[in-house]
Amino acid sequence: KKLFVPRETAFAETRVAASPDTVKKLKALGFDVVIESGAGLASRIDDEAYRAAGAEIAGAEAAADADIVFKVRRPEEGEFSAYKSGAVVIAMMDPYGNEAALSAMAGRGVSAFAMELMPRITRAQSMDVLSSQANLAGYQAVIEAAAVFDRAMPMMMTAAGTVPAARVFVMGAGVAGLQAIATARRLGAVVSATDVRPAAKEQVASLGAKFIAVEDDEFKAAETAGGYAKEMSAEYQAKQAELVASHIAKQDIVITTALIPGRPAPRLVSRAMLSAMKLGSVAVDLAVERGGNIEGAEAGNVAEVEGVRVVGFANLPGRIAASASALYAKNLLTFFETLVDKEAGGVKINRDDELVAATLLTHEGAVVHPKFGGATA
Ligand code: NAD
Repeated sequence: KKLFVPRETAFAETRVAASPDTVKKLKALGFDVVIESGAGLASRIDDEAYRAAGAEIAGAEAAADADIVFKVRRPEEGEFSAYKSGAVVIAMMDPYGNEAALSAMAGRGVSAFAMELMPRITRAQSMDVLSSQANLAGYQAVIEAAAVFDRAMPMMMTAAGTVPAARVFVMGAGVAGLQAIATARRLGAVVSATDVRPAAKEQVASLGAKFIAVEDDEFKAAETAGGYAKEMSAEYQAKQAELVASHIAKQDIVITTALIPGRPAPRLVSRAMLSAMKLGSVAVDLAVERGGNIEGAEAGNVAEVEGVRVVGFANLPGRIAASASALYAKNLLTFFETLVDKEAGGVKINRDDELVAATLLTHEGAVVHPKFGGATA
């Protein structure tokens, strides 16, 4: 069976869905791996490295006879219209709000798996793209902030005087936020963080940061069974805004990472809060592609809002592409291994498997995922 890895076509998508390491393993599983020429270049992997791992290098037209396609982003109509009916496509499908695109893929007859819907259970930890990418995004957010900040992060006591440590406030202490805390701490900043999930409190403290939150009854019940945050009530948001407003005025750098699956990102930082910050303060909005946590943040830009530079780079994992691709490729491989039919060769889609049930969006001509209009299997 033929497995194809195209070059990503989305704007500024620098990642790639296979690495030389995963190509070797896919070959060992019995697949013919074809990589589109140049697919890995932005992640610093050249055609030669893939070839040495056993892949064949071809043009984009190789998609037409692929049985399986590995991608980073959901394929565009112009891409999947070239796929064979029955082809299996695994990618980050960004399914929420994109139901029309899912129907179109279903119409083409492809079986599409959304990696970001992988359940957060022990068995699937090594397949968890949200974690692997968010971890790097959290790290990169601090690096971007440090690059824009016109002061030093650590306290420096020198003969010419003392540079104070930067104060960094991380909002949303999930995977990205915790890595941002750890990275800012490593750079010597004084770090505080907030979240609406009580479980975050201990994690923040264990990284040596101060936890700041409105800890009322709603806070105590804010974590869903899946480990995600709920959308908070207007009352809670008002109390949170009051607390944040007084805290933020004393910060040099704010990094926001707050997300709610399938919903717009919660608005946590207003213009008024930004205007209370010191001149030269920096904010980084990791949620900018989901509507943004910070008022005035612009996707793809550094915006000057009330004297604060608000970094809104889209696709932060893509700004650390070599590492992001290595981890993403490994996540895909580990999931794919569960689909491989070792006796018959090729892929077997067992809809009773909880990983398949959670991630399979389209199959045999229909949208099958219950969250996106499909009936349960
Ligand atoms: P996420 O990306 O969905 O959201 C980021 C953070 O923003 C979360 O911590 C969330 O609580 C927070 N948030 C949401 N609304 C907020 C608000 N109004 N104010 C402040 N913060 C707000 O989250 P994530 O990084 O994917 O992590 C979600 C959970 O999943 C965590 O508990 C994490 O530890 C857990 N997790 C489990 C596994 C596993 O078991 N395999 C793997 C990864 C993550």
